[in-house]
Amino acid sequence: MNSGTANKLLTCTFFICCGKPENRGIKEEDFAMLKTLTTVIFALIFILSNDAFALDKNEQVRIFKERIKTLIKQGTIPIIDVEYHHGGKIETDRLIGRMDENGVALTWLGPNEKLGSEESIRQNELHPDRFVPTIVHGDGKLWHGSDKGFLEKLAKDARSGKYFAMGEFEARHYPSSTNNRNVHLPVDSEAMKVVFELSSETGMPFLLHHEAEDELLPELERMLAKYPKAKLIWCHVGRNRNPVTWNKFSKADGVRDLIKKYPNLYFDLVQSKPGSKYHGTGYQDAIMYDVSSWGVSLDAEWEKLFEEFPDRFVIGSDINTGRFGNYDRVMDTFRSIVLKELSKPTAEKIAFKNAWKLMTGKDWED
Ligand SMILES: [Zn+2]
Repeated sequence: MNSGTANKLLTCTFFICCGKPENRGIKEEDFAMLKTLTTVIFALIFILSNDAFALDKNEQVRIFKERIKTLIKQGTIPIIDVEYHHGGKIETDRLIGRMDENGVALTWLGPNEKLGSEESIRQNELHPDRFVPTIVHGDGKLWHGSDKGFLEKLAKDARSGKYFAMGEFEARHYPSSTNNRNVHLPVDSEAMKVVFELSSETGMPFLLHHEAEDELLPELERMLAKYPKAKLIWCHVGRNRNPVTWNKFSKADGVRDLIKKYPNLYFDLVQSKPGSKYHGTGYQDAIMYDVSSWGVSLDAEWEKLFEEFPDRFVIGSDINTGRFGNYDRVMDTFRSIVLKELSKPTAEKIAFKNAWKLMTGKDWED
């Protein structure tokens, strides 16, 4: 419906509702009929506009699919980047340049909490074949302070039907290479419950940041068990920042145990440079790689895990403003070390098919 028609209908309603019929020379029964008619018209508008929106989302999915198919035709395995931290300082044209250079078909464009979810919609409107509307990250004072207004807005955004994914939301977060947030909002806190509930209700996946210390696992496991319909992507797996406190996650087996227990748990792969050390502890944290004088390869145990559970892993760049210069290196590591080592069906699932299913709710169809 165009705005002119809407205006006429509103004007009509105004005259019907605001004023007594006898004042305008309308018979009582005609007035009642007009009122009923207006109600019906508005009910129809409501239904039709909802349908129009559903079509919009289908149209978006069609555009995303075209984009992926274009890369397949070029002989590239397309990547869907599920974890990008959009702070508004890197022009999206620059990001698109890096995506194109690296065979990244789509980016879940998660804005930081200050920018708000709408920023992702704005960028999607400008570049509908590149950016997937994604709800804000929980990465600042509002989220960590469990701000009521922030959580209400989050719920409103999630229920709007305009978005495909949510977050990254931070639970336990150590200082990183680009920020010094040393915080812990427990996975079973009230704020996190809001996210788990919204994911269960809408079917949208969400990203979680949580440091994999043994003693921090129970709070996560309680929630995975309590919300079996929530789709949780735990970010940066294949990482260990302290072998003493992260004992269960020192091997691929620890991840395997959780995968077997929780069908609603997914992971994106660690993005640190193979062989690099976490500055907080001095340990080489990307444990899914073998680094030797011969070069870097995917560790055999992790390769086995990916082949055994090919549906549970996705790729996220974890690129933000401060790390933008790492984009090519991160994507090249995924392509030339991880995807190259895997069977083609597994590589395709991890590169884009799993992310596709998480964001659309449907299997990828060639
Ligand atoms: Zn993270």
